[in-house]
Amino acid sequence: MTAPATPFPAVLPPDMDKIAMGWLHTAKFLTTAPELHHLPALDVPEIAFVGRSNAGKSTCINTLTQQHRLAFASKTPGRTQSINLFSLGKQGITDAVLADLPGYGYAAVPKAAKYRWQQVMANYLQTRRNLTGIVLLCDPRLGLTELDEILLDVVRPRVVEGLKFLVLLTKSDKLNKTEAAKVLSIVRLQAGGGDVKLFSALKRKGVDEVARHLWDWAHPEGLEGVAAATAQSAKPAPPAGAADPEA
Ligand code: GDP
Repeated sequence: MTAPATPFPAVLPPDMDKIAMGWLHTAKFLTTAPELHHLPALDVPEIAFVGRSNAGKSTCINTLTQQHRLAFASKTPGRTQSINLFSLGKQGITDAVLADLPGYGYAAVPKAAKYRWQQVMANYLQTRRNLTGIVLLCDPRLGLTELDEILLDVVRPRVVEGLKFLVLLTKSDKLNKTEAAKVLSIVRLQAGGGDVKLFSALKRKGVDEVARHLWDWAHPEGLEGVAAATAQSAKPAPPAGAADPEA
C-alpha cells in the first residue's frame, strides 16, 4: 500500500523575498567620502548604485531599504559630491555595503567639477577591490545616454571578469506596455545582453525581485553559508593560548 500524498511539504521553503527585504532594511549610514582614498578598505561585498541625476537613484535606495531618508532625494546640484556608504547586516554583523555614487550629467554643474567627478567615479569603478556589483539606474524615457555608455565602457572589463551588473529602468509606471517592451529590448542591446529590469518605486514594481538579486550577489554561499557564518561569529573566543580544536 502506498502512503497517502501529504498535502503540504513538511518544511516550507524559506521566503527569500522577505529575507532579502529584511536584510536591506538593516541599512545604516556608514561614511561619506569625497575622494577615493577617503573610503575605508572593506572586505565585505560592496554594491554600487550609479546613474544620471534625477534617474530615481535616491528613491530606489530608499524604497529597497524601506527608509524614507537614507539616500537624500533633495540634493543641491553642484555641491561637493561624495560617495556615501551604507552598511548592511543582521545582528549587528556587517555582511555587505551599499555605495551611493552621486548622479552625473546635471547640466548646471561647472565643467571642472564634472570632470573631477567623472575621474573619481571611473577610479572607484575600476579599482575598488571589494566592489561586487553595480546597479545602473536609468530613466527609460531618456534611455542610456552618452554618459551611461561611457560608464558601461569603464566597467566592461570588470564585468567580463565576473563583476555583477544590473540596469534598472526606473519610473516604469510612466510607460505603457508597448513602450516598456520597446525600451527593455533597446537597453538590453545597448547593455550588451546584460541584465535589465523594469522598476517603479511608485508602483513597487520589481522591488522584491531586485532585493533578492542584491541578496544573492552579497551571499553567493546561500542561506546555509549565512547560518554557518552567524554560528561562527556567535562562538565564544577560546581562552588565550588554548589550542583551536578545529585547527
Ligand atoms: P536621483 O537624482 O537619481 O536620486 O533621483 P530621485 O530619486 O531624486 O528622483 C528624481 C525624480 O523622479 C523625483 O521627482 C522622484 O519623485 C521621481 N521618481 C523616482 N522614482 C519614481 C517612480 O518610481 N515613479 C515615478 N513616477 N517617479 C519617480
